Amino acid sequence: MIKIKNYTNGKLVDTQKSEEIKIYNPSTGKIYATCPESNSIDLNSAIKSAKKAFPGWSNLSYKKRGRFLFDIADLLKKNSNEFAKYESIDNGKPLSLSKKLDIPRAIDNLRFFASIINSNESNAYHMENIGINYTLKQPIGIVGTISPWNLPLYLFTWKIAPALVAGNCVIAKPSEITPMTAYLFSKLCIKVGLPKGVLNILHGQGSVIGSKIVKHKDIKAISFTGGTTTGEEIARECSKTFKKLNLEMGGKNPVLVFDDCNYSKMIKNVIKSSFLNQGQICLAGSRIYVQKKIYKKFKNDFIKSVKKIKTGDPFDDNSDQGAIVSKNHLDKINSYIEIAKNEGCKILIGGKRIKLNSDCENGWFFSPTVIENFNNKSKVNQEEIFDPIVTLNSFDTDKEVVEFANDNSYGLASIIWTQNINRAHRIAHEIKSGIVWINCWLERDLRTPFGGFKKSGYGKEGGVHALDFFTQEKNICIKYYD
Ligand code: NAD
Repeated sequence: MIKIKNYTNGKLVDTQKSEEIKIYNPSTGKIYATCPESNSIDLNSAIKSAKKAFPGWSNLSYKKRGRFLFDIADLLKKNSNEFAKYESIDNGKPLSLSKKLDIPRAIDNLRFFASIINSNESNAYHMENIGINYTLKQPIGIVGTISPWNLPLYLFTWKIAPALVAGNCVIAKPSEITPMTAYLFSKLCIKVGLPKGVLNILHGQGSVIGSKIVKHKDIKAISFTGGTTTGEEIARECSKTFKKLNLEMGGKNPVLVFDDCNYSKMIKNVIKSSFLNQGQICLAGSRIYVQKKIYKKFKNDFIKSVKKIKTGDPFDDNSDQGAIVSKNHLDKINSYIEIAKNEGCKILIGGKRIKLNSDCENGWFFSPTVIENFNNKSKVNQEEIFDPIVTLNSFDTDKEVVEFANDNSYGLASIIWTQNINRAHRIAHEIKSGIVWINCWLERDLRTPFGGFKKSGYGKEGGVHALDFFTQEKNICIKYYD
């Protein structure tokens, strides 16, 4: 049994009250680790060390701060097999995916922000014959980062890297469902000699330590990624003290398939945007709208491809899909299958828990599922399920499909498949989401603004947008003459 510890004041420590949370391996359904249920005493001790560290850290040159991130990234690269293994044990995702996506992206996040800090320029505004203004982008102080379970280390580093390199001290809370790689990460910080108190990692439940972090008066900004209901609660709390807040929340992303698309490329990609990481990616395309002329063909070909997806042991090289992250989540999926049936939808394939043999017999596996649904107002078309479930809908005209796509409270990402350049640009312009992919999916340039519209969030991550969030800009005005 692995005992996960908090990381505060440069050391691995037990929680002061020694309360623990059980950590499950989703592919076996068995407990394999425990993590601390941190409390106010742990938080206060982390804050104390962050306060002590802040003057030194914020006055260090950005190059020196970046150097620490480069060193951690190098160590992470060296240990990437171990990190990938534990990401898959903790989350249930295929080892091949942890190796190809999660860990390399965590390394990229660290290196990217360590480099881009060089181009975080301030501004100057000249008032002719009067004087000049210039701005300083200064660190905020102590900031909190809260991340989810679907891309554990990837999203954890996506937040802490810009926060740290901008000169803040961080209190980070990974998901209590997948805390393992953040724990291993704290060991790397110790190895590279990151100054104590600069980064503190507190484990525990969102409703306990997460909520305390959000409320703490010494934490001046919160960067949150997770569900919209949680985000709403955090926004209410932060508004009481005008705490700076960035929210990256849920999605119910439409995929618009036009009859003039590059068909074979589209099918391959739509399979990926539907089911990669068991469909547990906020950017997944979970509502598929297909133009009527090719609807029947698409339906047949798509189902044929779904049949080929192998759900199995995350450690089997042949598995395309692993386990669902928790029993709670599996129950949630099942409840949506019942909802779909009650709404009169047709389950074209899947819709069932999968029982595997051997070590994985008690694991939480679910079959990739396609639901035919022509009612855009139905719950399965409106609510985020966050799993290997997609709905299939049809449409006639451009106008109609844009209305369908926009008729949703979320607005994170959209995916458009067409070869018509005018249509592609016009629809990208009309669609209400923070990210639009045309003839591709999940192509990421870390400099671009990342974030959603409507109930998917506010504020942007990525590149200088993240650095802007983790700094406060001050304008200084100098007059030329008395
Ligand atoms: P969640 O909201 O349940 O939890 C996210 C994090 O918030 C966890 O660390 C949790 O412990 C913490 N938390 C929970 N309650 C809290 C509270 N009251 N105060 C402070 N912290 C609290 O989300 P989840 O189930 O871990 O993740 C899935 C969700 O995340 C999905 O909705 C998905 O779309 C979203 N997501 C969004 C993005 C994005 O970039 N927009 C990326 C990944 C996941």
